[in-house]
Amino acid sequence: MECLECGERLAGSRRYFREITNRAYRICDKCSRAQPHSIEFNPPDGANIDAAAIIYEKFRVVFAGVRLKILVWGPDPDSDNPVAKKRKEVRTALEKLGHRVFFSEELIFDKTYKVPANLQERVQVGEMDAVVCLASDFGAMQEAQEFAKQAKEFLLWLSSGARGTYTDSGLAQQLRQAGRAPIIFEDRDLGSCAIAAASAEWVEQRRMTIYAIEEERKRLDEMSPKRGAS
Ligand SMILES: [Zn+2]
Repeated sequence: MECLECGERLAGSRRYFREITNRAYRICDKCSRAQPHSIEFNPPDGANIDAAAIIYEKFRVVFAGVRLKILVWGPDPDSDNPVAKKRKEVRTALEKLGHRVFFSEELIFDKTYKVPANLQERVQVGEMDAVVCLASDFGAMQEAQEFAKQAKEFLLWLSSGARGTYTDSGLAQQLRQAGRAPIIFEDRDLGSCAIAAASAEWVEQRRMTIYAIEEERKRLDEMSPKRGAS
């Protein structure tokens, strides 16, 4: 297998985020690109390629139309905090997949904060299908404490320094019990794009659930005796 970015043959470096998938992300030793687990036409040996391609194309077109609105929290994107760079990578990775991605800073509707910042964010969260939170700084940590349980979907990234802290035994534990286990990232993850790749995979899993719900809704609509009635 070669790196999708630079073509280097991928050697040993692997990173697992088992909260999301049991498959390894292969990290390129040359360019540090984490290889995504992309959804693509990938039939097994013996498949009826022509028929499978038609089926895949039908899936691909409808699936591409399922676009999520996603809020990405983390350090100030203009700061030199290395996690801020990861935040921008998450946005880019999600936009490439067709999602609409926002930073809270762009959605502030009252810059004098007569409406408190957390109330403005409460409204933002209500508008979003999912939130990805890189909680390495005080602001994002506070956002996680306040909104991780109320967002429709919430992916919390915690730095390894959070292990054994109040956050780990408090909010993180509550999220594990709720099936929203946070992911601990290490310093080495700041040197690759693994956080963006895994965040994108998490969003794509949610997208598949929404795809399935929408398809089921269509099927039920077709069965309904009220179909076409107004
Ligand atoms: Zn590479």
